[in-house]
Amino acid sequence: MTDQRHDEQQPEPPAWVSGIPAGRIFGVPLVVSPMWLILVAFAMVVIPPALRDHVAGLGDIGSVVAAFALIVVVYGAVLAHEASHVLVAKALGLRVGRVVLQLLGAQSEVLDEPRRPGDAYLIAAVGPLCSVFLAGLGAVIGAGFERHSLGWTFGWSFAYINGVVAAFNLLPGLPLDGGQILRAAIWHRTTDKTKATIAAGHVGQGLSYLIVGVALVAPQLVSSDKAFGTVYLLLLAFVVGSNASIVVARAKAGSALPRLDMRTMLRPALTVEAQLPLAEAVRRARDIGARALVIVDGHNRWSGIVSEQAVQATPVERQPWMSVSDLARPMEAGLVLSPDLTGEALMSAIQKTPASEYLVADSNGLKGVLARTDLIAALRALGVR
Ligand SMILES: [Zn+2]
Repeated sequence: MTDQRHDEQQPEPPAWVSGIPAGRIFGVPLVVSPMWLILVAFAMVVIPPALRDHVAGLGDIGSVVAAFALIVVVYGAVLAHEASHVLVAKALGLRVGRVVLQLLGAQSEVLDEPRRPGDAYLIAAVGPLCSVFLAGLGAVIGAGFERHSLGWTFGWSFAYINGVVAAFNLLPGLPLDGGQILRAAIWHRTTDKTKATIAAGHVGQGLSYLIVGVALVAPQLVSSDKAFGTVYLLLLAFVVGSNASIVVARAKAGSALPRLDMRTMLRPALTVEAQLPLAEAVRRARDIGARALVIVDGHNRWSGIVSEQAVQATPVERQPWMSVSDLARPMEAGLVLSPDLTGEALMSAIQKTPASEYLVADSNGLKGVLARTDLIAALRALGVR
């Protein structure tokens, strides 16, 4: 599970990108990644022959039915693992965005940061604990049946799969539960949450290379079918590696963002009337060193911002024949920003109303214009993008 944070203002990605909606767990939307469906298809090819080999007297149809039943039960076990994360997170007062079912487990997207390392530790540890419990349950069931009976194979397969899920999720790199535990431990020791996240994320990136290595050298660790094991582990390495990289990038951006200051990016602006010819407005702006044009109406209210890109795209010989309002975006609430905005507050204000220019003003009046290009340059200078 990860601590991916989501801006609630952002629209949900379409279902086919992130997964297929599959109901709710304790009120939290559940989506199933297409990768899980690929895995089920693979499993339906690999498991029936294996069951036929292990269980005396199991026919072709019987082995397919039993394989399907095993997949359904394992699906339930993975859901129970995630449900335990969700329950603990909710009990600690944190919001959970959704649960995404992927390979070898799933991700519960906790929207709020845990307040204390101890909370983060509890949320992470309960999942593997749940899987260990289910593995024990499987072992008890398996032991209750005669060797090579269906119940025996079923029980021990369930025990084995849950054991693998617990062990895999305890690997100490983000986004895995073990990575969350490592992060909580570093956070507890250093009191620096960002540093802890970046360190545990780097371990996660390292793990993905290790998984690629296992996929190439010892795929039989996860499946008796070598090809299946290799494909599965490579997919897994991809999921772990890409999620770890996202976690590291977000943590780095989060630590750099507070240094993002609107006042250092402001362009001096000239206010003009809507009907002023563009050529005249550009000349006046140059004269006073202004680098942006804001349109005011007859009541001295801001009514639009002239787009720099549109001005540059207009040939000089046409500029005397156009009025500034031809190249302006009409004013709306989201285009006016407070000069006090910094860091994440500034980023989320801009994400809410995407534009090429923003008017920056407070109760004392116009302070200037913030251009998106200047913001991107500032973010690059901070190493965020
Ligand atoms: Zn987990």
